[in-house]
Amino acid sequence: MLDEISGKKTEAASLQGYLIRGIPVIKEGDDLALIVRSLFDLQDGDVLCLASTVVAKAEGRSRDLDEYSPGPRAQKIALILGKDPRFVQAVLDEAEDLLLDYPFLLVTTSFGHTCVNAGIDQSNVGGGRILLLPEDPCASAEALRRSLGKECAVIITDTCGRPFRCGVAGVAVGWAGVAALRDWRGAKDLHGKALEITLEAIVDEIASAANLLMGEAGDGTPAVVFRGLRYPQSGGTVFMPIEKDVIRPRIKS
Ligand code: GDP
Ligand code: MN
Ligand code: MN
Repeated sequence: MLDEISGKKTEAASLQGYLIRGIPVIKEGDDLALIVRSLFDLQDGDVLCLASTVVAKAEGRSRDLDEYSPGPRAQKIALILGKDPRFVQAVLDEAEDLLLDYPFLLVTTSFGHTCVNAGIDQSNVGGGRILLLPEDPCASAEALRRSLGKECAVIITDTCGRPFRCGVAGVAVGWAGVAALRDWRGAKDLHGKALEITLEAIVDEIASAANLLMGEAGDGTPAVVFRGLRYPQSGGTVFMPIEKDVIRPRIKS
């Protein structure tokens, strides 16, 4: 969709967001693509955002705390944090790297996402169980994308805290059919100066807007579709490569 502004072609400054209602409580084995297709008429170019919670449930990532036998490290951390040692063991099991063990567990997951408690949720799970993040959310997004029957992008979101900022916001933990980053390098600013370093984390921007519509509590709305966005279809990651990360070594030192 293009608008004519001042004689130049530019992207239309209009974006529609649709909250999909009527999604059931998701169980292991549920076909999320089928459920979404039955409730919403997707079009080519749409961006489907799904809360990681429902993707994880469909993938059977809920666990009983009794499945975990906490080792000495988990027990020690749990004592200091005042947490259930089984929960701490679950977080350690999902962690590829441990950045902080006090005053909370800040870890990097096996798929490269850095967050508190490895993104393990105890809300919206039920039955006193915990819910791990999907094992490989980009792979989950790609599988969903292929089952949608249209040329759509898929973003799997999670609500996350941010360093240096108050309040939680939605971020992308997995994506497919959309580039993680839009590369502005080489584009000219208002005064003709070429941008040198700007990579825009578009999947996080979209995830954040989706999260705003989904809500955090019992709304039962884990799926949002955005229509009207133009986006690059592949490239990049929002997970900072360890070798480029200047904050990580300072936290760990
Ligand atoms: P997260 O941000 O991925 O951790 O997910 P949240 O627990 O914050 O939930 C996001 C949205 O999805 C909220 O509106 C929840 O009520 C909703 N939600 C979570 N699980 C389910 C489910 O199984 N079925 C439905 N319909 N909604 C769910
Ligand atoms: Mn979550
Ligand atoms: Mn949330």
